[in-house]
Amino acid sequence: MALRNTQYDTIMREYDRKQLYNRHLYEEHRADAYKAVPRLSAIDDEIASLSLNQARAALTGGTKPTADLHGAITTLAQERIDQLTSHGYPADYLEMHYTCPLCQDTGYIEGKKCTCFRKASVELLYTQSNVKEILQKENFEHFSFDYYSDRIVNEATGQTALETAKDAVRKSKEFIQRFDDSFQNLFFYGNTGVGKTFLSHCIAKDLIDSSHCVIYFSSFDLFDQLAKNTFHRDYTKDESTDYIFDCDLLIIDDLGTELTNSFVSSQLFLCINERIARKKATIISTNLDLDKFNDTYSERVFSRIASNYTMIKLIGDDIRIQKRLLGGK
Ligand SMILES: [Zn+2]
Repeated sequence: MALRNTQYDTIMREYDRKQLYNRHLYEEHRADAYKAVPRLSAIDDEIASLSLNQARAALTGGTKPTADLHGAITTLAQERIDQLTSHGYPADYLEMHYTCPLCQDTGYIEGKKCTCFRKASVELLYTQSNVKEILQKENFEHFSFDYYSDRIVNEATGQTALETAKDAVRKSKEFIQRFDDSFQNLFFYGNTGVGKTFLSHCIAKDLIDSSHCVIYFSSFDLFDQLAKNTFHRDYTKDESTDYIFDCDLLIIDDLGTELTNSFVSSQLFLCINERIARKKATIISTNLDLDKFNDTYSERVFSRIASNYTMIKLIGDDIRIQKRLLGGK
């Protein structure tokens, strides 16, 4: 995915900051070492002037003088190291230091993004996702089917809790695999503690790791954010308001726990509609059953969801209670 301009600028500003910092450190080291060992300053002047001559000689095509100059520069460079180490400085004390030596803190190598750029963008996407810390623990590596019973059965489908969970994981992984090629949305529903939020975190982690912009909101925070944007005329729109409509994946967690009113219902419709129009994926999770959901948010919200989302029902015992009974394991 392409980074948004503001995200790109944030990363490039960080490179500027690193360059400035390292340049400052370099100047400081020079001032410090020159003062303590004046010979170092003379050596650097000589090296600079010989390098200039070397460049001139290379232009006029003579190979002999270039070789001589090269030898002289090597000797001086060695003396520089000797002077530094004999005065207790590291040998590379007067070298320019780079946080990333590969791209010299520019983010680019021959016009291509350096590996550190990708690392920086993933790091930024994590920070902006609202769930940076939790994704360390809640991801597919830590997903366990042990909490899903093969004795609890969904009477409507005949599937056990375990089968339902396996199905949900398979659909979630398909969702990730096809994320860049097809427009899809997921709707997780079921009782409290059956793993809906956990599963959406798993998806978030995988997609952020592949450089997608994922934003997570509890439904309460989402509507709070949208309300600020609507009702406070002086409120300066912050980044997250734009992200709600155009991040690669929006996760709305625990829909139905906010104070539902006509504002919330209309904002939800707007949000869902806008993201469908932009072909941006959304995951919704809710504890409400489908009838209750329909009553709470109106027919039009429900029908948009029913026709654009893959509905996944999870069943089972409350995992949080099970974990507590098992002593936090
Ligand atoms: Zn780099």
